[in-house]
Amino acid sequence: MRGSLFVKCPTCGGNCVLPAQEVLDNIYYMYIACRYCPPDPFLNKSAPFHEHIGSDDGRCKKCGKRHLDLVMGHVLTILKQKEIYPDDAALKDVGTPLIAYGYQIPYPPRLGSKSLVLIMDSVTRDSADKIIAQVPEIKGVIKRSGSQSQSVGILDTDSKPHTYELLSGCDMRCDVISSLFGELTIYRNQSLIHIEFNNNKIKSLEEMYLKGEFDNAKVFDGFCGPGTLGLFSILAGAKKVILNDAWLPAIDNVILNIRVNSELLGVKLYFQLQDINKRDRIGDEPELMAKASGMAGIEVYHGDIRKTAKILKECDICLIDTFPSVDPYEYITIFKDIAKKVAVI
Ligand SMILES: [Zn+2]
Ligand SMILES: [Zn+2]
Repeated sequence: MRGSLFVKCPTCGGNCVLPAQEVLDNIYYMYIACRYCPPDPFLNKSAPFHEHIGSDDGRCKKCGKRHLDLVMGHVLTILKQKEIYPDDAALKDVGTPLIAYGYQIPYPPRLGSKSLVLIMDSVTRDSADKIIAQVPEIKGVIKRSGSQSQSVGILDTDSKPHTYELLSGCDMRCDVISSLFGELTIYRNQSLIHIEFNNNKIKSLEEMYLKGEFDNAKVFDGFCGPGTLGLFSILAGAKKVILNDAWLPAIDNVILNIRVNSELLGVKLYFQLQDINKRDRIGDEPELMAKASGMAGIEVYHGDIRKTAKILKECDICLIDTFPSVDPYEYITIFKDIAKKVAVI
């Protein structure tokens, strides 16, 4: 899992972004213990954690990886030294650890260099810098604002964006997502794009796929986020997909995801609007950001979904994937005249 600098990471300029095929080829071994790895430490994550974990404690001399709990223990040791956390804090108090190449693994991961993004409630920039400098397994430290249930991004074009703050390192990570019709790696800037918690959305697509609904279909993914549903529609058989989001960081991630999954999707990006990041972060009138062609045609728009509907005119399937707190009724009303099927995912 090292070497090929394929797409420069747009956030840090490093090699955080690997082509999908390379991630898929390596994911099964990425977080597994080698036969020389020290055994599972079986730490209690809820009890006060009094151990002092330093830079090399518990790291395998052969493969260089460390158990997740020891990495979290090392972070907690730093936070206690900085007096941000009390002496009786537990491992679970540190925050939410997200592995850089997200995949459902049935065992605690063994972590190599820059393989974990941490989302934390209690952290300062100074301590985040120290964590990045001293804990090699940590790739990025993000400070959460608001409650855990509040979605990151924008609810609609009138709302103020809710984002987390990347305090140190890089927040680019991906999820390896599997379906009946194939796998994709979906990258996202974790401080700017909502976490997807479950596979139910993919299950909804699978049900439609089994009924043949995607065969040669024109699909509109109106709140596309990093592009998950729209790009999976291509694997499911769609011949044209229009992705739209009003949130510019999502559009940035969609374009990256078309590039890294290009081989799996059988498409090539042939147009990309320059200086995307000079645009307003919240889109209004839809503007074409990127186009790809091949096994399917892809168009990516940055705009208000209601206005993108006007230029769309007609489609077979309209996918509506709003945040959990948004009532989709308004969008169903708009799209029932445009799309043969409106699927609230
Ligand atoms: Zn990066
Ligand atoms: Zn090992």
